[in-house]
Amino acid sequence: MSRRKTRPTRKSPAPAAPAVTADSPCPCGLDATYGACCGRFHSGTAGTAPTAELLMRSRYSAFVVRDEAYLLRTWAPETRPGEVDFDPALRWTGLEILTATDGTAFHQHGTVTFAAGYVHGGETGAMRERSRFARHEGAWVYVDGDVGE
Ligand SMILES: [Zn+2]
Repeated sequence: MSRRKTRPTRKSPAPAAPAVTADSPCPCGLDATYGACCGRFHSGTAGTAPTAELLMRSRYSAFVVRDEAYLLRTWAPETRPGEVDFDPALRWTGLEILTATDGTAFHQHGTVTFAAGYVHGGETGAMRERSRFARHEGAWVYVDGDVGE
């Protein structure tokens, strides 16, 4: 996690990451608890996500719970940033998978197009992206994406 060295000085500090427990509904929207869905990939207890779509979902959930280590290890080495900047004023509110191509056990590449809802400073919005995924050492990783397609 990228920790702040100093606390914000404004009167109403930005809310911390929402408390998601193993028994919470999974942030990714599937009908399962976090622990049985994306949480098992974050903790590594279920290995790695078997499809690009499940990786996409687990990365969305990692943004919700601010699991920087998971985001970095599921990022292709050639596009991986040094760190993940979580905007403390931004809260993700839901994920909708629009389309997915390839990205199964039989593929080396895949794309997932999604819309992710958010609230930022009291304003609601949605981000739409077509993400590209590939296999790295056998596991699905995020390569890059086109925002707004
Ligand atoms: Zn999930």
